[in-house]
Amino acid sequence: MVRQIISIEHVFYRYPGQDPYVLKDISLSINEGEWLAIVGHNGSGKSTLAKMLNGLHYPEKGEVRIDTLPLTEETVWEIRKQIGMVFQNPDNQFVGTTVQDDVAFGLENNGVPQNIMVERVNHALERVNMHSFLDQEPHHLSGGQKQRVAIAGVIALQPKVIILDEATSMLDPKGRKEVLETIFELKEELGLTVISITHDLEEASKADRIVVLNKGEVYNEGTPMEIFQMQEELIELGLDIPFSIKMGKELEKQGFTLEKNYLTENELVDALW
Ligand code: ADP
Repeated sequence: MVRQIISIEHVFYRYPGQDPYVLKDISLSINEGEWLAIVGHNGSGKSTLAKMLNGLHYPEKGEVRIDTLPLTEETVWEIRKQIGMVFQNPDNQFVGTTVQDDVAFGLENNGVPQNIMVERVNHALERVNMHSFLDQEPHHLSGGQKQRVAIAGVIALQPKVIILDEATSMLDPKGRKEVLETIFELKEELGLTVISITHDLEEASKADRIVVLNKGEVYNEGTPMEIFQMQEELIELGLDIPFSIKMGKELEKQGFTLEKNYLTENELVDALW
């Protein structure tokens, strides 16, 4: 049975001392094990919403519940244990001098006993395919590897939800692919709930569902295919349509019949050769 893990009901938020609301009547529910992408142009409120889910902002009106617990100043520490965050710049996230120290940091802070800590660090690094880098200095890794170590640090704490706030936007295509594949495996194998905040629709195309934010409001939500149907509107909102979709549309115009309304890898090969 599908279980709701996050519910956001009619949430309004504005920054202290500022007049306009930056989140306006947001309602969303997120299921356990779901990958939800929140997309939107710069300034649409994505990061503010992500920070609220981590208890850094509280709704001025409306309610946020994480695993049935309402977000308040009393519950925030309990809620933060359930939510892991990975941010944009991998270099800003390291605290350890080696990969294993870095992943162990949060566990040490939580007073996890040494033997359990070693086990959890090893397991988390295996999960993200970074175990062979255990003794390396994080600063020597590639961008994609650094983000995978940051993800290991989060999953070692065994949260129910992981939030990626533009976590692939500073990576090259290879690094982005590594991180997205890692996230997909974590979702499939651990049943982790994933929320990815991004302005990149290519990344969002990997999610189960996309929510489009615009000027602090939910503009639309649906499966990636439902959202990509609204090509003109997305361009209006300043969102870049994934290459596979653009190519698919172009080829359809030229008389190709596609299996889906985007270009599959086989179709791309057929069209190009
Ligand atoms: P996004 O992540 O989609 O780029 P943000 O959540 O960062 O959007 O920003 C939403 C709105 O809130 C923007 O208008 C931005 O200028 C404003 N904002 C963001 N952070 C602050 C802040 N610390 N103080 C005041 N306004 C802010």
